[in-house]
Amino acid sequence: MFFTTEECYKELYTWLKAKPTSIQIGTFGIYAGILDTGKSMHEIGGKYASSTHKLLDEFCKSQTKIDILVGVAPYRSCKGKEHCEDCYKTYGKQIMRLLKHAENWPKCTWRFKEELHLKCTIFNYLDNSKNRILGGGRNFTDSDWADISFELPKDLTEPIQKYFTEQWDKGLPVTEENLTKYVVSSFEKVFATK
Ligand SMILES: [Zn+2]
Repeated sequence: MFFTTEECYKELYTWLKAKPTSIQIGTFGIYAGILDTGKSMHEIGGKYASSTHKLLDEFCKSQTKIDILVGVAPYRSCKGKEHCEDCYKTYGKQIMRLLKHAENWPKCTWRFKEELHLKCTIFNYLDNSKNRILGGGRNFTDSDWADISFELPKDLTEPIQKYFTEQWDKGLPVTEENLTKYVVSSFEKVFATK
């Protein structure tokens, strides 16, 4: 059981050393030190260095297929059904930041989906009996909020993989076009029932 992001990632590094053939990640939102401008906080380093950034770098250095499914939240205006320019701009930037993450790690296959809270990291090995899954409430961010992560028992590996694949199939590729369409439709939905 892991109480901090640091402990959790330390464990994932040991799983990585065993050379997985693929890694599947489910997370609600992601923040790995890439600003909405596309600038990487990792290069600034020091207290701004992102451990999630480093983890993704290490994942990508390995000869592993990496699928990342990111849950995104619908648009909300602070004024309810009234338009708020600030909220809209902030929302747009937040969603497009996902594209910047995808561009920074092009080796990963990125998809996004609404109404998805799935948080899990699945490591698949040549020998399926060695597959491992990390579960818990933690997302792919450097957040130090109280949370618990844990390795799930082996008998849950198959059903969770099946579930992940079902959700993955419903997700859309992270592209500028798909995200832009999503932001606009999410925005329109708030005002559709006015
Ligand atoms: Zn607002």
